[in-house]
Amino acid sequence: MLGWSINLFRIFGIQLAVHASFVLLLVYAAFEGWRDGGGWAGLIASVLLTVLFFVCVVLHELGHSLTARRYGVNVPRILLMPIGGMAEFDRIPRQPRAELLITIAGPAVNFAIFVVLAVLIGLPPGLPFHPQIDDTLKGFGQVLLYWNGLMGVFNLLPVFPMDGGRIFRALLARKLPYLRATYVAAFVGKALALIFALAAAFWLHQTMLAVLFAFIFFAGDAEYRMLVRREEEAACWAELARRVRPTERTTPDEEPPLIVHGPN
Ligand SMILES: [Zn+2]
Repeated sequence: MLGWSINLFRIFGIQLAVHASFVLLLVYAAFEGWRDGGGWAGLIASVLLTVLFFVCVVLHELGHSLTARRYGVNVPRILLMPIGGMAEFDRIPRQPRAELLITIAGPAVNFAIFVVLAVLIGLPPGLPFHPQIDDTLKGFGQVLLYWNGLMGVFNLLPVFPMDGGRIFRALLARKLPYLRATYVAAFVGKALALIFALAAAFWLHQTMLAVLFAFIFFAGDAEYRMLVRREEEAACWAELARRVRPTERTTPDEEPPLIVHGPN
């Protein structure tokens, strides 16, 4: 399903792509803008806000991607889906410090946009829970300011594989083996994702949010299983290499040169 995407353009050499279902999201945004009494102006404003929201998502993902590159990680693509963005890394560094900095860079971009907009246009009254935003150009900026604040905070929830969960894993990995740290982070993440999904569905009555947490629940589980599989494969290759090497040494032509360490 994730393969059904449309390539847009390259940014810093990274292919930006949108999932095909993104078109449905834009149609839905247009319909909402029209229905809420805005007519054509409402339709355009709603679509424009949706596009600008995803521009902020791309900037968040670029925060991760450009920091990851500094650690030698190749980032071929950033994929946008209606539920958010995903930077595709060829590997995730196992040094806790690298993972920590790569992960923090995403929400840091959102907080930077929040601060810049707050300085330029001021904070809307009623933050954080009941922001009062009017239908002016300034209100447009304040919606973006509010969304960036939410995006930064939401991503820092310790629900693996969201940013907060990755930060939690990196902190655990300073004391625990990497796989064990991932197991604990994924376990805590799944428990929290389940609680948040139920709270979103039955308490807040936010269906999309419940679906998002259900998606995160399965994504955390899938990433942990993938890591276990890779570890098993690596152990298998290591065992194979260990078995093959002694027979190589018995072949006289391939006898390795004797290397003597030290003064003797
Ligand atoms: Zn992120």
